[in-house]
Amino acid sequence: LFAYAPAPESRAAAGEIASHYGHFIDGEFTESTGSESLKTIDPATEEVLAEFAQGTEADVDRAVAAARAAFPGWAGLPGSERAKYLFRIARIVQERSRELAVLESIDNGKPIRETRDVDLPLVAAHFFYYAGWADKLEFAGYGPNPRPVGVAAQVIPWNFPLLMLAWKIAPALATGNTVVLKPAETTPLTALRFAEIVRQAGLPRGVVNIVTGDGRTGAALTAHPDVDKVAFTGSTEVGRAIARTLAGTRTRLSLELGGKAANIVFDDAPIDQAVEGIVDGIFFNQGHVCCAGSRLLVQESIQDELLDALKRRMSTLRVGDPLDKNTDIGAINSAAQLARITELAQAGEAEGAERWAPACELPSSGFWFAPTLFTGVSATHRISREEIFGPVLSVLTFRTPEEAVAKANNTPYGLSAGIWTEKGSRILWMANKLRAGVVWSNTFNKFDPTSPFGGYKESGYGREGGRHGLEAYLDV
Ligand code: NAD
Repeated sequence: LFAYAPAPESRAAAGEIASHYGHFIDGEFTESTGSESLKTIDPATEEVLAEFAQGTEADVDRAVAAARAAFPGWAGLPGSERAKYLFRIARIVQERSRELAVLESIDNGKPIRETRDVDLPLVAAHFFYYAGWADKLEFAGYGPNPRPVGVAAQVIPWNFPLLMLAWKIAPALATGNTVVLKPAETTPLTALRFAEIVRQAGLPRGVVNIVTGDGRTGAALTAHPDVDKVAFTGSTEVGRAIARTLAGTRTRLSLELGGKAANIVFDDAPIDQAVEGIVDGIFFNQGHVCCAGSRLLVQESIQDELLDALKRRMSTLRVGDPLDKNTDIGAINSAAQLARITELAQAGEAEGAERWAPACELPSSGFWFAPTLFTGVSATHRISREEIFGPVLSVLTFRTPEEAVAKANNTPYGLSAGIWTEKGSRILWMANKLRAGVVWSNTFNKFDPTSPFGGYKESGYGREGGRHGLEAYLDV
């Protein structure tokens, strides 16, 4: 269709990747007490990038003890001093953003355009934003002298590794807590690189600890008796398991879980703008987004026109090398995730929905999935009920705003929704009726550190971001 010139970012810009990593505990890089290691691979090539430690219960004990020992000193600092450290981290992230963006793209598979223009600027923005709160907590709405909760255990998923780390660590440190964070087992590298930044910024030992490993390490960390607060982002299933474990303990819990968002397009919406929002809503980050607009609800009268325009736009999406600056859709993060997406797409066909994808050549190695659209979807189909967490859009239709609300809310999840219409009064009416923690209008997947983010129903509880994000880490 048009001339295509590859514009590859340099792999070398990621800096040195060690062949083996241990944990970061009490300000030191340290070996695990166990002998088991895991491997992280580049999902675009299946090349092994590094081995890293499978954290044991003894490793978790050491990390929690380091965070506990550091807590009184960190909590006792004037807020203005904690702010200085957070501002320093934010500036170092900016200075090292190319390195971190390339490393993230290699470890996760997401396009460099996104890590460079979305993930990294937002990581820095979160540290800047919460640095600004550190000496103003008396104005946070939790009384004149709000106290930190203590030691926070933070477990994050693989879809935005460094950004989820920033969402967790920045508010916890600003409010005077110390942390032990466990990154996901398929994307540990940017969290381990972040540990270098913690040292570079001169943080006191033990304030930030990073322990790697899979769900066993996560389970040991979240169940640890000397942890005061658990913050978890991940699947609803694991969130439930953590809530069960913590029931009857004194540990506080906040959960950011899955979603099945409706992106609702009315007949008065500007079609081209809506198409961009639909594409951004479901194909951004390969659809590995908890708040992805995975259900398109289109008003019946414009269905044909909208779907024609959407298919034309999908035909221009470039799938391939995450380090090519032209790439729109990178690699699926893991073989397991690819298998799940494939299985659900097959279920969509088997249940009678009509599958469409543009002709696109996928690389021969690595994990890939073409942007895919399903029409003729009903509310009972698995593809309209279950979170696919991949580049797959299910299209449903509606006639009236009331019907749109009913269909949008017909899900156990409640994380986000989008509304496309020129009518301001309709946006406000809908936003109040939609059971979703975030409602975008005439845009989608816009994030800002000043806005609280979080879910209703099975999408979890608690908010991250904004002033509300401080609440999880403060006692009145
Ligand atoms: P996951 O729940 O399998 O894993 C998330 C993290 O939990 C990983 O670090 C994992 O090692 C750890 N873990 C696994 N078992 C554990 C256990 N028993 N105890 C403690 N920790 C455990 O989820 P995933 O597949 O990595 O991520 C995808 C899911 O995360 C999707 O469902 C997505 O919607 C959700 N997500 C939600 C948000 C949000 O803000 N609401 C953001 C990103 C991802």
